[in-house]
Amino acid sequence: MVAEYHRCIVKTATQFLFLFLFALVASRYAQTVTNSNSGSKEVNAVYPAAHDLYLDLHQTPELSSHETQTASKLAARLRNLGYEVTEGVGGTGVVAILKNGAGPTVMLRTELDALPVEEKTGLAYASKVHTKDDSGRDVPVMHACGHDLHMAALVGTATIMAHSKETWHGTLMLIGQPAEETISGAKRMIDDGLFTRFPKPVVGIALHVGNGLPAGQIGITPGIYNTNADSLRITIYGKGGHGAAPNSTIDPVVIAAKTILSLQTIVSREVKPGEMAVVTVGYVRAGTKNNIIPDQAELGLTVRTYKADVRHQVLTAITRVVKAEALAGGAQQEPLIEHYESTDSVYNDPGLAERLRAPLEAVLGKDNVITTEPIAPSEDYAFFIAQGVPSLYMSLGGADPRKYAESQNTGVGLPSNHSPYFAPDVDPALHTGIEVEVALLRDLLNGHSQ
Ligand SMILES: [Zn+2]
Ligand SMILES: [Zn+2]
Repeated sequence: MVAEYHRCIVKTATQFLFLFLFALVASRYAQTVTNSNSGSKEVNAVYPAAHDLYLDLHQTPELSSHETQTASKLAARLRNLGYEVTEGVGGTGVVAILKNGAGPTVMLRTELDALPVEEKTGLAYASKVHTKDDSGRDVPVMHACGHDLHMAALVGTATIMAHSKETWHGTLMLIGQPAEETISGAKRMIDDGLFTRFPKPVVGIALHVGNGLPAGQIGITPGIYNTNADSLRITIYGKGGHGAAPNSTIDPVVIAAKTILSLQTIVSREVKPGEMAVVTVGYVRAGTKNNIIPDQAELGLTVRTYKADVRHQVLTAITRVVKAEALAGGAQQEPLIEHYESTDSVYNDPGLAERLRAPLEAVLGKDNVITTEPIAPSEDYAFFIAQGVPSLYMSLGGADPRKYAESQNTGVGLPSNHSPYFAPDVDPALHTGIEVEVALLRDLLNGHSQ
């Protein structure tokens, strides 16, 4: 009985402690929101227009390489602010330049594109847009990666910078990059003279919103920020025929199934434990009817790695496995392996990342500038870095701080980017995005903060 009583006391005390800790965490994040919402006066002044632009862009998303309305909305606003704007750079890309005396050229980049995802957030301003994709299929469209928030932040920042020219000097270069989701827009802008027709920046900055941090915070990852990404399309050739007579066919569906399983042993058995590598087969396409054995099957792969040697090892192993499984299945023709998209990992200049920590801490507070681990999703921002533009690419907190604290507690993750449920906590995230961009640009453009 006494033991029972003690257990009960211990249990109640544990519950109390747990609730207390939870309340503490929740209030800490609530504090974060209050801080970022109160923001600086100059951010509050541009916020309503930035928020209106966000709502408009969110409801009018456009797919990669088709961002025509999006680009002209951005261009019109920047032109009104006095920027020298060029449209159609590398497709639908926008370049806006504001010269303000002698000094360095600094680039700030946003993406323009949305994704073929059906929005299920239930928000009043949810996207209802449908369009035809490049293959003619009807697809829903949503800003499921948050690029709408990046654009709204960039325009808010552009407004403050244009109205406070006494706080900086040099050349501000804002770019709206198309087709990030197909990792092709950055290269197309470069090929179209981004760094030859326009001043070449000495440094570049960009950020990406996500639920990995609560709104009000910014994450910095010195060095490798994300992964090398390689997209592969594999066509396996068999011999078609009647489903009831498999003996007269070479079944590409079975070869594809074995290939998928064998591919999964590359990371688990060949790559050194601890090295980052992902091999995902994202789609399998074969056949039209249950009683027909098709004559070919197609697999779509994404491969992610941090290091160049691991990347090479994994890609070589994929070729070996795919060819060997086709051979084992009796295919008379070697499979076709198309390496149709790739990008390097984004590398944050460590010196720059350390230097810029101070201005970030000055505007957000020390506790809100977090050092974060590298992430798995990729980005074609790496193409700008490869042109000799040292950069800082940051993670902008997008999660509702209360939901974030709850998810840390329960272990149930919040919707990731690209999810139909992805919905950043706009007010604090957008405020913080603008604060961060302005602070960094002023610092880099030999300015002083306010
Ligand atoms: Zn994305
Ligand atoms: Zn994105």
